[in-house]
Amino acid sequence: MALLIFNYGANIVQIENNKVVTLNYILKDSEGNLLDQSDDGSFVYLHGAMNIIPGLENALVGKATGDDLSVSISPEDAYGVRDDGRVQKVSKTMFEGGGDIQVGAQFHAQGPEGETLVVTIAEVMEDEVVVDANHPLAGKQLNFDVSVVEVREASSEELEHGHVHGPGGHHH
Ligand SMILES: [Zn+2]
Repeated sequence: MALLIFNYGANIVQIENNKVVTLNYILKDSEGNLLDQSDDGSFVYLHGAMNIIPGLENALVGKATGDDLSVSISPEDAYGVRDDGRVQKVSKTMFEGGGDIQVGAQFHAQGPEGETLVVTIAEVMEDEVVVDANHPLAGKQLNFDVSVVEVREASSEELEHGHVHGPGGHHH
């Protein structure tokens, strides 16, 4: 009874744009393989600032501290579909001094518009290397089990920067 009285009229903060949200999550692919998981209570994002994939952001709208949800997100609402045009053969000499050339190794490369891409080595041949510039999670159905740990208002500085400051966020 004391608890009920204590909670009477409590303001439940729901997730919406400009809220800072702390989550715990477990991410699995369609085969049930673990792809990623948060360290306890350390994943923080600014809602509405495209800090996270759209499918997950949409599923979290209206949730509050203590809510749990399971959501399955199609590639279109996650990291996009795979594009075979982003797979290409390059000369091995491009990797000179660049560390291990082996399948699965990732390198930074410059894209056609000068943007930074992460490419993954898909195949190693005698003189050439097949690199894949698709996001490693492109084309995958993503299954999240999420717990909402905390929801708070963003500071005006966080809104200006478009990201979270402090623990789990940016420090600058
Ligand atoms: Zn900042």
